[in-house]
Amino acid sequence: MSDYDFIDDARLERLVREVRKPDVAHVREILAKARSITTLTLEELATLLGVEDNATWEEMAATAQAIKRTVYDNRIVTFAPLYVSNYCINNCAYCGFRVENQAQRRRHLSVEEIRAETEVLAGRIGHKRVIAVYGEHPQSDIRYLVKTLETIYSVRVPVRRGYGNIRRVNVNAAPMSVEELRELKKAGIGTYQVFQETYHHGTYAAVHPRGTRKSDYVWRLLAMHRAMEAGIEDVGIGVLFGLYDWRFEVLGLLQHAQELEKVFGVGPHTISFPRIEPAHNTPYSHAPAWRVDNATLRKIVILIRLAVPYAGMILTAREPAQVRRTLLELGVTQTDASTRIGVGAYCEGDGEQEGDRQQFLLGDTRSLDEVVRELAAMGMITSFCTAGYRCGRTGACIMELLRSGREGQFCKLNAILTFREWLDDFASDATRAVGEQVLARELEEVRVRLPQLYPRLQAQYARVAAGERDVYF
Ligand code: SAM
Ligand code: SF4
Repeated sequence: MSDYDFIDDARLERLVREVRKPDVAHVREILAKARSITTLTLEELATLLGVEDNATWEEMAATAQAIKRTVYDNRIVTFAPLYVSNYCINNCAYCGFRVENQAQRRRHLSVEEIRAETEVLAGRIGHKRVIAVYGEHPQSDIRYLVKTLETIYSVRVPVRRGYGNIRRVNVNAAPMSVEELRELKKAGIGTYQVFQETYHHGTYAAVHPRGTRKSDYVWRLLAMHRAMEAGIEDVGIGVLFGLYDWRFEVLGLLQHAQELEKVFGVGPHTISFPRIEPAHNTPYSHAPAWRVDNATLRKIVILIRLAVPYAGMILTAREPAQVRRTLLELGVTQTDASTRIGVGAYCEGDGEQEGDRQQFLLGDTRSLDEVVRELAAMGMITSFCTAGYRCGRTGACIMELLRSGREGQFCKLNAILTFREWLDDFASDATRAVGEQVLARELEEVRVRLPQLYPRLQAQYARVAAGERDVYF
């Protein structure tokens, strides 16, 4: 498998080159297919790329929104990144952590420091999920990664009513071997994320200098294959938008998802679509070759939602609040809040961004409390559920549940239970007020739509309200 490369640049380039304004009837057939939660073909996605008129784009947006509702309802999962080390041996042109960036203040957190960061996240802010992020470096070897996970999971902080702890640790780190990934699996990893950055081979070579570990396109491309082989079924893929033609990149994402489905019967658990943000002393990041504007980002979100309808979609605090607001309903399922990306910044930061110890600058530094309140006002419930991987709802199982719309039942109930918990332990008065309205609506919906589950939910809900924690279906 070592040099098996399934991204067919020539085919993707041809599809982009041959994009034509499609017949609306054909577009509608494709939308109906997506609406049935079926992965599109490359040709179908390329057809959608050709749509020019606003009216059809709005039909596509409405379908994306409907798919989001079918699969994920009105839930948004929140998380925080935990930057553990910014030492890196690579030299990616766009990243503030690149080895040649002398202006970057380097830091590698000790176990005690990781514990302290986790205490803030779990005890003061109220997060239940983090994504641990590492540069690629011998210091950040598999032993360190495992230690990181163990440390984060071990923290438990008394809070208002119950206790705060992190219940799912996802990881964004360099591609690893199957043996190393097995260690991460044993340590309880949630999702393993590796973004290909760009699927275009020529561009990949241009921004990842030859001789660096990261310059090996195929080693990176097959990171998710190795993860699956190691038993990590929740994998996250992504593109760093701005490196190459966005139309090629969405086709690349789809080809990657199809390949995972073909080989393992399970597609990506999540898809990320970050845009390049300005990084300190990193000229490329200030003038990316294929900068993506807000209107195009909206198209990207719609197209990903339609092309891979079951996948979770992650929108991060790289994007400013206004952009996040417009994209959330179109298909996004996860977002971060109270985000700090300086290594050690949850403990030491005063809220200001510090370019010389960040990978890039954030567009949105609002608190989790503010984001939860805004989501509630938009009719969405913030889910702190982390039950999935702990009760076997991962990989093929969750994929089937998602496709059939049944996953929503468990998730809805767990969203209610964890939201109750979070409101009691962390919410400000203002957030609590809107949050209670959301909860009341959600409980009523379960009573009417899932009467067989309602009595059990009521019993669990009463336990959480009485102070019991981490109760789930
Ligand atoms: N070092 C590992 C790697 O490269 O896979 C993982 C961590 S890296 C810090 C996480 C991701 O940050 C990268 O995959 C890349 O997509 C993204 N990134 C890098 N520079 C960025 C920038 N200037 N703006 C936005 N995202 C960036
Ligand atoms: Fe290192 Fe990752 Fe940044 Fe590249 S993107 S320089 S590998 S931290």
